[in-house]
Amino acid sequence: MEQVNVRDRSETIEVTRPAPDTVEAPAAPTAPHREKTGVERELERLQPSTYERPESLYRQLLPGILQVPADTVLAVSRKSSLWPLTFGLACCAIEMIATYMSHHDLDRFGIVPWPSPRQSDVMIVSGTVTKKMAPAVKLLYEQMPNPKWVISMGACATNGGPYTRYDRVLQGVDKIIPVDVYVPGCPPRPEALMDGFLALQHKIMEERHK
Ligand code: SF4
Repeated sequence: MEQVNVRDRSETIEVTRPAPDTVEAPAAPTAPHREKTGVERELERLQPSTYERPESLYRQLLPGILQVPADTVLAVSRKSSLWPLTFGLACCAIEMIATYMSHHDLDRFGIVPWPSPRQSDVMIVSGTVTKKMAPAVKLLYEQMPNPKWVISMGACATNGGPYTRYDRVLQGVDKIIPVDVYVPGCPPRPEALMDGFLALQHKIMEERHK
């Protein structure tokens, strides 16, 4: 409340003025109401809607759990624990043995040599397959349980190699057993065999739905 002296009437009247900090700002002019155009309504309609997925009970209890299809789990298990049958046929076998040794160390891929076809799932045909040896190779392959894979290591196992004119040499081991990966070379270096194993692991993951 404040007293103001009005000169004309020489009397004091009381007027009420709002405090400076309570002065209200003039209202902004409101835009005239406008109907939305069809394009604006359509844009509103096309906005992606958010959907909150309810969490299942096991996710609430075990929030870090990983959910993957069973065939992927099986394929990862198979490719990470390949057990090659240990047998060699010719000079390529020396390179295969070198690949198992400490310098290259196939074990770090989970690849462990196994001296029996009963528990092995990979056959590395490393060397020249003669027609005399072919029935034994086929028998060993048939003794391996499914699923099983074959790596043809070197030119001899793939197509006879330097012995293409020898009647006593089988012109490719795929004449008697199915081959999954061919490793070229005469002989292939250990890195080439490791590359063949990586290709086989890739193939196992690719064929996990079959
Ligand atoms: S491919 Fe060459 S190194 Fe391998 S077994 Fe044949 S001849 Fe020997």
